Amino acid sequence: MALTSGISEMISHHQCMKMDRTIYRPFSRQGWGQRRADAVTRVQAVAAEKTDERQFSAFDRVSVLSEALPYLQKFRGKTIVIKYGGAAMKDESLKARVVTDLALLATVGIYPVLVHGGGPEINIWLGKLGIEPNFKNGLRVTDADTMDVVEMVLGARVNKSLVNLIQQAGGQAVGLCGKDNDTILARQMIEKDIGFVGEVTSVNADLVESLTKQGYIPVVATVASDGKGQALNVNADTAAGEIAAALKAEKLILMTDVPGVLHDKDDPDSIYAELSIRKCNELVEEGIIAGGMIPKVDCCIRCLSQGVSATHIIDGRQPHSLLMELLTDEGVGTMITG
Ligand code: ADP
Ligand code: MG
Repeated sequence: MALTSGISEMISHHQCMKMDRTIYRPFSRQGWGQRRADAVTRVQAVAAEKTDERQFSAFDRVSVLSEALPYLQKFRGKTIVIKYGGAAMKDESLKARVVTDLALLATVGIYPVLVHGGGPEINIWLGKLGIEPNFKNGLRVTDADTMDVVEMVLGARVNKSLVNLIQQAGGQAVGLCGKDNDTILARQMIEKDIGFVGEVTSVNADLVESLTKQGYIPVVATVASDGKGQALNVNADTAAGEIAAALKAEKLILMTDVPGVLHDKDDPDSIYAELSIRKCNELVEEGIIAGGMIPKVDCCIRCLSQGVSATHIIDGRQPHSLLMELLTDEGVGTMITG
């Protein structure tokens, strides 16, 4: 039941794409700015009108499925590492849609691996416990109490809620954190004086890989081990990138709360559809890529040099952005290429 509703959602969405293809396709990848946003708005309006899926003929449905066939064939048996950011995880109904897309991918034989952050939820729980969040140069200062909260919130609350949502969507998910089977080992960055914050030193992807091969969707909370019993807080983008590299994943997809890499942070039209590694470095130097976007482009660059074929930064708030990236010609967000 959950599977059929997932597929019918995909069908409905693809069908809307087809209707608007005349507007949509010419702007794929380059110069699509406002017109692309308009197309998406129109697609969503059509989708809202077509609430009754019986409005699509049986032929419409099979045509859309058939269009997805080359992509399904391309990615079948391939690993796709998806990082879902805290900032884009605030909306519960959107979270449910994202995990339904994951369940769909697993059902058709693709191996999705979900790596998640959870900054906003950590702040909520720090607040409930009367612990002031403390940042130094944009990085969270993680004292012992804060580390306990990070581990409990990421490894339990956020992780298990995602696992539960995937199960509800008809998928099979197993939640783990970086400590399980030393999936993520890290070194405390003592020199930065920000407490229990680590940089990833190694990834053991055996457990994650064996879960995917058995049809489970691994859901990884990015709490690392220092190998001596201490938990360390690591950046979830970096950890996802290292996991993708260790798995020799086909793609790394970072889902966040912006449309992609923007030239002007406040202007969604200024999106870069495609960026080379050299251009990324220039934009970081110019300060155009800043804050939480820096670890994202850094880990994409590292992944590309370690054999991951493609890396994307996409909008986790846009319904079905994941399926649009994977199963249609229309690229969404920013693709970083080697
Ligand atoms: P996540 O929880 O997904 O990791 P972050 O807040 O860490 O989210 O990173 C995404 C943020 O990066 C955006 O919300 C935006 O404020 C910031 N950012 C900085 N530079 C850029 C840029 N050039 N384009 C888009 N976003 C940027
Ligand atoms: Mg971040």
